[in-house]
Amino acid sequence: MRYYSTNNRNLRVSLKEAIIKGIADDKGLFMPEHIATLPASFYTNIENFSLQEMSFEVAKAFFGEDIEHDALKKIVYESLNFPIPLVQLDTNIHILELFHGPTLAFKDIGARFMARVLAYFTKDQNEEIIVLAATSGDTGSAVANGFLGVPGIKVGILYPKNKVSAIQEKQFTTLGKNITAFEVDGTFDDCQRMVKQAFTDDKLRQQVNLTSANSINLARLLPQAFYHFWGYAQLKDKTRNPILCVPSGNFGNITSALIAKRMGLPIQHFIAATNINDVVPQYLKTAVYEPRPSVQTIANAMDVGDPSNFARILDLYNTSHFAITKDISGATYSDKTISATIAEVYHRLGYLLDPHGAVAYTALKRALRGTNDQGYFIGTAHPAKFKESVEEIIGEEIVIPERLQSFLKGEKKNIEISTEYSAFRDILLNH
Ligand SMILES: *Cc1c(COP(=O)(O)O)cnc(C)c1O
Repeated sequence: MRYYSTNNRNLRVSLKEAIIKGIADDKGLFMPEHIATLPASFYTNIENFSLQEMSFEVAKAFFGEDIEHDALKKIVYESLNFPIPLVQLDTNIHILELFHGPTLAFKDIGARFMARVLAYFTKDQNEEIIVLAATSGDTGSAVANGFLGVPGIKVGILYPKNKVSAIQEKQFTTLGKNITAFEVDGTFDDCQRMVKQAFTDDKLRQQVNLTSANSINLARLLPQAFYHFWGYAQLKDKTRNPILCVPSGNFGNITSALIAKRMGLPIQHFIAATNINDVVPQYLKTAVYEPRPSVQTIANAMDVGDPSNFARILDLYNTSHFAITKDISGATYSDKTISATIAEVYHRLGYLLDPHGAVAYTALKRALRGTNDQGYFIGTAHPAKFKESVEEIIGEEIVIPERLQSFLKGEKKNIEISTEYSAFRDILLNH
């Protein structure tokens, strides 16, 4: 299959090129030329698959022409080697818990899949590939752990000094092997600028193979569709099509769900839930897309002022605001409502939401009020990843899962750099 650029549908490349490049030469995002509808037999059997079997069926629809089936099966089975339960909260509300992977966030799935696909496409290449990622927390840990020990690939994580939580920092600075953490004496925006500068540095790119591991990369985006099918499959009552609510930052997660709908997944309606960084909910309301600088909130993985995957949503709907709003509504909540929701759900149901899940829970609850509909939302991170804020909200200490504890024991190793690009560039050249 070929993949086109959202800036020019005639600019088409192979899957291998789309994944190694990450972004098109004209700075557009890659989209699949065809989105195949899954056969009726898939849907009649949907409750009989395991997570891995189901994901492999979906993976074949995307990648079956470009990756041999045996290799693809291995990639899928290795990437999804942890459970993704759907847990009922209220009678009509469920959470799809995507935080049982190595770093306890949904990004594990895309990162683990991308690492293996990239290794598959570069295995015969004797040149090393360098994956760069700027992070404010979760992306760094998922990417570093996903790519740990993958042959032929080195990873550089750039993070702002004193601006990520202690647990998050440990998750990407203690791994060693092919992972290098760069502690930048600046802000997240500085980290992102330095990474972007490296990608547009043609001279540098002639000497080192660079790729990016955020959700602009298709190999991270598309595998996220697997679990949207899996969430639906686990719903007991399939007589009414559910509403799916996704807590959104760069809008990769919800884009993969919209692609799943194109493949026939019977979702009635989508809710894009955000914190006060509500550029997309505003667009849905007004038809005007106005990016603006992000504001810090307690749901910090969604502090995004110009979501990178918005271009893909426009492309999927041929830029029709009418068509987009038929499928998607927006919802936006302040830190105050997020805190109140965490406390309310914890005391009423004994279930601890993380700040991102709390945004989605509230949005879904309001949408379902007074209807007979049901829905599920995406639990993107384990609450222990936001220990400080969550403990303050519920006024209790929480238990840190063993997997997070073990990161805390590791020894932090990093390279301290300034925000000056040329020094970072020299390190890349001498990798
Ligand atoms: C990355 C992230 C999000 C946002 O996901 P997008 O695909 O960027 O919309 C939401 N919650 C958590 C915990 C995240 O780490």
